[in-house]
Amino acid sequence: MIELVKDMKRKKCHDCGVEPGKIHQLGCDTERCPECGGQLISCDCFCLDDDWDLKKLKKYNREKWTGIMYEEAHLYCEKHNLWVYWEGDFKIGLVFDRGRGWVKCDKDFPGASHDLNTAMVEVMKNFKPRLKKTKK
Ligand SMILES: [Zn+2]
Ligand SMILES: [Zn+2]
Repeated sequence: MIELVKDMKRKKCHDCGVEPGKIHQLGCDTERCPECGGQLISCDCFCLDDDWDLKKLKKYNREKWTGIMYEEAHLYCEKHNLWVYWEGDFKIGLVFDRGRGWVKCDKDFPGASHDLNTAMVEVMKNFKPRLKKTKK
């Protein structure tokens, strides 16, 4: 059975240790960049020669830790019915064959899990910079 997001346990961030609902510690490897949607510690949006551009960062809504890694992608899979299972190398009789890796399947397929690779691409495509609304 697939573990759906609603059944998943929300945990502290594995990298920086914040509780669900809180903003990550700066430099956490889990936080997504509020401008490009990539990994904040590896994109160039806010990093100036190993230092943070805090002034710029303040203009954005930083991502809160939800308690589930890639929750958005998991939810995307559940909404759009995207499931995969892992097909490793296998042997039939004397013949070895290469597995196909991740193969799309139905939700009820044994060993099915969320198709996060596909979902991440879509989530990234739909990503919009999280600029704070400025009061006028
Ligand atoms: Zn974190
Ligand atoms: Zn970025």
